[in-house]
Amino acid sequence: MFGSGDEKPVDLLIVGGGINGAGIARDAVGRGLSVLLVEQHDLAAHTSSASTKLVHGGLRYLEYYEFRLVREALMERERLLNMAPHIIWPLQFVLPHSREQRPAWMVRAGLFLYDHLAKRERLPASKSVRFGLHAASAHPASNTLKPEYKRGFTYADCWVEDSRLVVLNAMDAAERGAEILTRTKLISARPEGAFWQAVIQSEDGREEQIAARALVNAAGPWVGEILSAKLGRNNAKTVRMVKGSHIIVKRLYEGAFAFILQNPDKRIVFAVPYENDFTLIGTTDIPYDADPATVAITPAETDYLCESVSRYFRVPVTPADVVKTYSGVRPLYDDHAENASAVTRDYVLDVEGGEGQPALLSVFGGKITTFRKLAEHALEKLLPAMGREPGAGWTATKPLPGGDMPGADFDAFVAGLIAAYPALPANILRRLARAYGTRATRILNGAQTLADLGEDFGGGLTAAEVDYLVAHEWARTAEDILWRRSKLSLHVPADAAERLAAYLNPPSAANPAERSVRQAG
Ligand SMILES: Cc1cc2nc3c(=O)[nH]c(=O)nc-3n(C[C@H](O)[C@H](O)[C@H](O)COP(=O)(O)OP(=O)(O)OC[C@H]3O[C@@H](n4cnc5c(N)ncnc54)[C@H](O)[C@@H]3O)c2cc1C
Repeated sequence: MFGSGDEKPVDLLIVGGGINGAGIARDAVGRGLSVLLVEQHDLAAHTSSASTKLVHGGLRYLEYYEFRLVREALMERERLLNMAPHIIWPLQFVLPHSREQRPAWMVRAGLFLYDHLAKRERLPASKSVRFGLHAASAHPASNTLKPEYKRGFTYADCWVEDSRLVVLNAMDAAERGAEILTRTKLISARPEGAFWQAVIQSEDGREEQIAARALVNAAGPWVGEILSAKLGRNNAKTVRMVKGSHIIVKRLYEGAFAFILQNPDKRIVFAVPYENDFTLIGTTDIPYDADPATVAITPAETDYLCESVSRYFRVPVTPADVVKTYSGVRPLYDDHAENASAVTRDYVLDVEGGEGQPALLSVFGGKITTFRKLAEHALEKLLPAMGREPGAGWTATKPLPGGDMPGADFDAFVAGLIAAYPALPANILRRLARAYGTRATRILNGAQTLADLGEDFGGGLTAAEVDYLVAHEWARTAEDILWRRSKLSLHVPADAAERLAAYLNPPSAANPAERSVRQAG
């Protein structure tokens, strides 16, 4: 076991517990490699919890001729839907159209390509719509599109709980034998013979030496820093950091569909139904060169997002309506495009080593949507550099933890859960089903009443769920639980974070954070 003084080398040392590191860990351990993943903060602490949360082909990338990426992403949508039907679900998009925008024939041609670049079984094809009676413009009790928007299009993509997708990949990797160490940082690594000799450091300052046959640099916005500062490399490939921000407002409109809104600057902004009571609006594309850990929205970005939506809606959105914001840094591969929106969203995998040298794989770019294919391609490149056969990919058909529902039928699963727990509120059961899928029963554990689930922190969060998150999902702090394992910070009372922190760190008992360092997943 790592960290116990055992010097046995590991096959892969993965740096970064975002979606790409977690996805590669899962795929690699399933191919028989021994894997250690280190994440300096929490899982999905950075870009992988700051996305727009769409599993999408990326309609706008067609304009940049990114056909490879769009096709791969479109194919992934239905695969991921089947692997994790609890945290991924279909979402309809409404695209209002007016004369000042891209011509209708161009949008129609783009949507035709979008419909046909990859096979679809569950997601419907795009359509032209006259808004007339559509809820987008005719809902009696809701903010709606301005009357001048009379026509548009609809198409389908999917929604994903991004940070939960990361955790589920890490859990699956751990259940197959990987070791996942959060709050553990790579300090340095140098090649010595056929191995990397790496130094990792946990939050309390303890350092440990790890020998690894290959190193995976999946550090997202830090990929360049790992190469230069930790490995002393002068890499030709570089990362282009592009900030993107979101605002969350009280629910802007009725309806389960999202809007894709075209802006005069040719960018698009999404408005998406969020957490029942809210609307998520984003994003921006701003070149960024400061510390990725401290990225935050500026007033100018908030204004831009408010204006983007207000251009379309009868009742405008103003900065005063903003309930919460978040920002992330896209770690894009630098293709030297002129503006930040045009930089490729495709990924580049750089492999070095082989022939007596330990292998190094660095990940540049990528989307949440394409993480599974990225991991497959990463192992297809890395294993030969380690002198091994890559073997066949296996992840396309294996459900993620909690996703093993018959026919990937989420509604049937929820109905069954509500029938099995008649005394518990249906809205709480539905939320647990969305978050944990079939694993929800491990939290409920036969509870007859809400009181059986222990202390109530508000918003439906109980001690039973917190204990599960600490024991199985590497949760250590109130923020891990309220913002990354769930979005309950939008729903709990103001004192919940403090109460939760006290529960997680009781003054007398052993620190649960310490208990969670080594967990089976
Ligand atoms: C605003 C925005 C919107 C987006 N929307 C979408 C979308 O809707 N759909 C989609 O598919 N994609 C979207 N993306 C893209 C997607 O979010 C990213 O491509 C993806 O999350 C990158 O994941 P990653 O694992 O490479 O990086 P990260 O998630 O940043 O993970 C890298 C990790 O490495 C860790 N690390 C760094 N240095 C060290 C070290 N020395 N030791 C240990 N750990 C270290 C960091 O702490 C970090 O957690 C969006 C991105 C942004 C910014």
